[in-house]
Amino acid sequence: MIVHICCSVDSWYFLTKMREKYPNESITGFFYNPNICPQSEYLARMIDAKRCCDRLKIEFAQGEYDDLRFIAAARGLENEPEKGKRCASCFDLRLDKTAQEAASRGEKRFTTTLLISPKKDLAQLRTAAQTIAARYDLEFVFEDFRKGGGTQEAFALAREKEAYFQNYCGCAWALIKQRGFATELICAIGGVSGKTAGELRLEALKERSRLENEGQNASLFKRKKVMWSLLSASLSFEKGGERTRIVCDAAPYSASLKTRSRLIFVQKGIARFEKTAGFVVERAIAKPENARAVLGLGDWDITPIFIVEKLLDGVAKAAIESVFSEEEIFDIGR
Ligand code: SF4
Repeated sequence: MIVHICCSVDSWYFLTKMREKYPNESITGFFYNPNICPQSEYLARMIDAKRCCDRLKIEFAQGEYDDLRFIAAARGLENEPEKGKRCASCFDLRLDKTAQEAASRGEKRFTTTLLISPKKDLAQLRTAAQTIAARYDLEFVFEDFRKGGGTQEAFALAREKEAYFQNYCGCAWALIKQRGFATELICAIGGVSGKTAGELRLEALKERSRLENEGQNASLFKRKKVMWSLLSASLSFEKGGERTRIVCDAAPYSASLKTRSRLIFVQKGIARFEKTAGFVVERAIAKPENARAVLGLGDWDITPIFIVEKLLDGVAKAAIESVFSEEEIFDIGR
C-alpha cells in the first residue's frame, strides 16, 4: 500500500496505526507535496518525514517538487478559505499523483496521512480520494484515527519523537492567512541578515538526521533569533524647500552604522528601523546583491548601501555629504 505523507507530525501516529491495523501489508510512505512554499520549508518537512519512515522502518519515496503545477492548479482560488476549493484542488493534485505512484508500482491500495490532520475536512478528503481511486482502479483506504482521542495521541507521539512542527498548512496563501506577515516569502535578493529562518531550520534538521544516522543522539530545540530584511530604503534631500528623492538601488549591507537606528515595532513580530543611514556608492554596479563582494565589506550589518546610477548634481552631492562621511562614499566606477 502507498501512504501519501503530508508531514512527519501526522505521519508518526498514522503510520504506526496503519501498521498495527494492516500487519501483513507492505507500506511505502510517499512524500508528494508541491503545495509547500517556500522550497526550504518543503525540504525541512521532507527530511523530517523521511526520518519518521526510517525510524519506523517503512520505505520512503519522494515525488517531484513541481510547485508550478500546484500554482497552476490553485490559479483563481488564491483567496479561497481553508477547506475551500483551493484545498480541494490541492488534495486532487497530491492524491492523484499518489494513486499514479501506487498504480505504477502495481499496488492495489493507497491512503493519506492527511486523514489524521485535525484541520482537514474528512468528507472533502474522502470524496476526492474515492473519485481518484476509481480513475486508477484502486481502493482508497479510509481510516479515521482521530476518533477516541486519536488527535491528542497523534500530537503527543509527534512531540515525543521530536517531530518538526510546522506552523502553517503549506501553501503561500495559507502562510499569509495563518501567519500574517510571512518573512519566508521575502526574496533573498532584498537582503536578509545571514541565513533566513527557513535555511537555519533546514540545516538543523539535516544535521540531526546526519547525527542520528551515525548512531549519535541529537535533539532539536527552539531559539528565538532576530532576523531582518530590507523591505525598502530610499535617499532624499531638501532642495528649494522641497524634498527630492534620488533614484537609487538599495542593497542591504553596511559595515559600521547600526547604532544610528532605533527599532520601532510595527506589529507582532515586525519592527522597522526608525532611521537608517548607509553607504552611498556612486555610479552603477549591475546588481545590488553584488555590492558586498565588490566593496569587500566585513560582517553583515543592518544598514543599507545606496547605489546611485549617475553622478549627483552639486546640491544633491552636498546633501549626501552632510549625512555621510567621506569614507562612507565610494566611487567604484564602471
Ligand atoms: S491551505 Fe493547505 S490544503 Fe489548502 S491549498 Fe494550501 S496547502 Fe493545500
